[in-house]
Amino acid sequence: MSFIYSRVKKMRIFLSFDFDADSAEQLYYSDKPVKISRAKFSVNIGLDRVLRLLRKYSIKTTFFVPGWVAENYQNHVIKIINDGHEIALHGYKHEKLDELSYDEEVRIHSKSIEILKRFQSDLYGFRRPYWELSKHTLRILVAKGIIYDSSLMDHEEPYLLKINGQKIVELPVYDTFDDWILFELEYRSPLEVLNDWKYWLDTLIEEKVNYFCLILHPACIGRTPRLKILEDFIQYALRKGCTFKKGVQLAKETLRNIKE
Ligand SMILES: [Zn+2]
Repeated sequence: MSFIYSRVKKMRIFLSFDFDADSAEQLYYSDKPVKISRAKFSVNIGLDRVLRLLRKYSIKTTFFVPGWVAENYQNHVIKIINDGHEIALHGYKHEKLDELSYDEEVRIHSKSIEILKRFQSDLYGFRRPYWELSKHTLRILVAKGIIYDSSLMDHEEPYLLKINGQKIVELPVYDTFDDWILFELEYRSPLEVLNDWKYWLDTLIEEKVNYFCLILHPACIGRTPRLKILEDFIQYALRKGCTFKKGVQLAKETLRNIKE
């Protein structure tokens, strides 16, 4: 794998959401009603709150949705689409991809592509479920026409990966910007996290890095004080002149700007 990255002048924020609902819990913790209920907060409350906030600031972004979620919560996915957001791949039932055989993994991506295409005819992106890829994942996705991935942590700005001679854009992430880790695993204080996000944004701008990605889950960020800090962060970023982009926009921009 190799990469070449390009620089643009303005800070672009990828305010990305993983709408997992209870997919992973149904797969790995089907005998744990409390764990399932925590995930279902996204379906009952979180998603609507997040969509309302995004509408308020006219932000259009990307929701990574497991195929099983699109099958079981069709109306939720329709709401996401109707608000002008992009949906992108995120496994079928939020599988740990590195634990699957090659054939199982191909089946999972094929099935999810078929399901998500019922809602959005062109699919562009993918993000790792459960924080990991298999060694085959990107090769399988490139062959299926996916143009970007948002899973890796080896850079700070979008860049181009070459896999077996084919191109895929990487929209890098960093685990420390994942609300699930911050709030559901570490139970950090929302105000402390807000300060961190602002400080990260400032330091990236200072360093002339023009991309910042938050990974957010409606089950988690949809809780009131967390949604409030997200709104504060959006206002802060807007005051700094940042723009909010969908994954597909960032990917296409990267493909356009790339110099090989
Ligand atoms: Zn997820």
